[in-house]
Amino acid sequence: MTKYIFVTGGVTSSLGKGIIAASLAKLLQARGYKTTIQKFDPYINVDPGTLNPYEHGECYVTEDGAETDLDLGHYERFLNTFTSQANNVTTGRIYQHVINREREGAYLGKTVQVIPHITDEIKRRMTLLGKDNKFDIVITELGGTVGDIESLPYIEAVRQLKWEMGEHNCLVVHLTLIPYLKAAKELKTKPTQHSVKLLSENGINPDVLVCRTEEPLYTELKRKIALFCNVRIDAVIEALDADTIYGVPLEMMRERLDMICLQKLDLPLGTEPDLTKWKEFLNKLRYPKSKVTVGLIGKYVELQDAYKSILEGLIHAGAMNECKVEIRNIHSEYLTRENAAEKLNNLDAVIVAPGFGSRGIEGKIEAIRYVRENNIPFLGICLGMQMACVEFARNVIGMPTAHSTEMDPDTHSAVICMMEDQKAITQKGGTMRLGAYDCELDSSCKTAEIYGTTHISERHRHRYEFNNEYLQAFEDAGMLPVGKNPKTGLVEIVEIEDHPFFIGVQFHPEYKSTVEAPHPLFVSLVKAAKQTQERRNSDNARMVFEDAVTEG
Ligand code: GLN
Repeated sequence: MTKYIFVTGGVTSSLGKGIIAASLAKLLQARGYKTTIQKFDPYINVDPGTLNPYEHGECYVTEDGAETDLDLGHYERFLNTFTSQANNVTTGRIYQHVINREREGAYLGKTVQVIPHITDEIKRRMTLLGKDNKFDIVITELGGTVGDIESLPYIEAVRQLKWEMGEHNCLVVHLTLIPYLKAAKELKTKPTQHSVKLLSENGINPDVLVCRTEEPLYTELKRKIALFCNVRIDAVIEALDADTIYGVPLEMMRERLDMICLQKLDLPLGTEPDLTKWKEFLNKLRYPKSKVTVGLIGKYVELQDAYKSILEGLIHAGAMNECKVEIRNIHSEYLTRENAAEKLNNLDAVIVAPGFGSRGIEGKIEAIRYVRENNIPFLGICLGMQMACVEFARNVIGMPTAHSTEMDPDTHSAVICMMEDQKAITQKGGTMRLGAYDCELDSSCKTAEIYGTTHISERHRHRYEFNNEYLQAFEDAGMLPVGKNPKTGLVEIVEIEDHPFFIGVQFHPEYKSTVEAPHPLFVSLVKAAKQTQERRNSDNARMVFEDAVTEG
């Protein structure tokens, strides 16, 4: 029988519930338990696909094309397994389902209410992944903070499930904050007591408390928290600020979070978690042998969460290369032909990020021109690939008005345009080309060498595509469509022949990079960055030497 762990949050948001949930899942997985994680978000959007990144950070896309919360990215990166549509549920989706059923007459004339109809639907979805015994343990992260009005139906659903399933089948881990008051030189437990009290008022006594803290929790303090929050002392877990999110599973193992949860669920501890690979990764991450600087060009760069998976993909790739990847965030809105050289100066590689709409688009195009002309390794992702095609059309093929119809619907040189099936769509949510699609690569191209295969599958999230009317013109001028969708012939990858590393991909490789399987495109980009740096250093050294000789 599948067992359930619920993770709630108290005191403040941004405590890292997703990372704690993912770390616990990692430890349980490493002990041999088939584990998955799902996230329930209390907002009324049906999914985060229509949310502005400023509101909600990156929208993460699963294999089956669900537009989801970015925490699902952490789940996949930690567990190295796929999540799906079922792993992310919002209040909007719950209500949509219930209201549709009401319209169908499914409630037979009853008054449809939050309790039981909404809570029943929440419970149905919370237990869905455990239905066919595919998983031993399902961890559910509840978005929001205890005390939020919109969280109440979820808390009530958990209360009911806990009662229905019985104590050894379901447990609640509450993540909370123990603030340190500098002036008093003291750790304070009161906010935690209040948030646990709030949970208890709603009928839930948490089984485990994970306490985020900047200072270690001494035994007396743990005792106090345990006593006032009604948990066992060994169930008060210290979660000190970590230097990297990837260190958290080991910290949680040290605190025996996994063992306490297994004991409470009446499950055998299984084998000692084998985290050898994880530790190897952490070692490489913490003790790099070199450093490169990668420019990330986008219009949301001031908001780190907007490009979460790209940043994490670069961390995985850096560790693989035993190299620290420093990111230089470059805002495309302020990048011009005049300042491109200055802004992109000394970068070892450049990524042009995905995105939507016109803002900052000319800056992206200028950045691409600069890296193309200066042989700087380049990876263009989705919009980044599309703009690489626009730049190439304008400055190499000689089509000065080339554009994507997304930015210029009237352009006569629409090198990127919308497919017919997309034109008929009027609804915004969930209607892009989404999820995994196959791609066939030319066996002789650089990308095939990087992947080590010619058949790949990658995840998409876009409406516009390369316009195949211009295929020949691009090929003749040296930008090669090296990867195509075998069913539709759509161009998925372009490369420039006589450039050390210039790759544009219509898909999002960042969604598939995990700790145990860093993405080959990111790994090879970092490798190319190292080579660029070495070349630049030796060129500089030669110049200094030549200057010295001339002067001498
Ligand atoms: N705006 C572009 C499109 O819809 C690219 C989307 C993206 O970068 N994810 O095709």
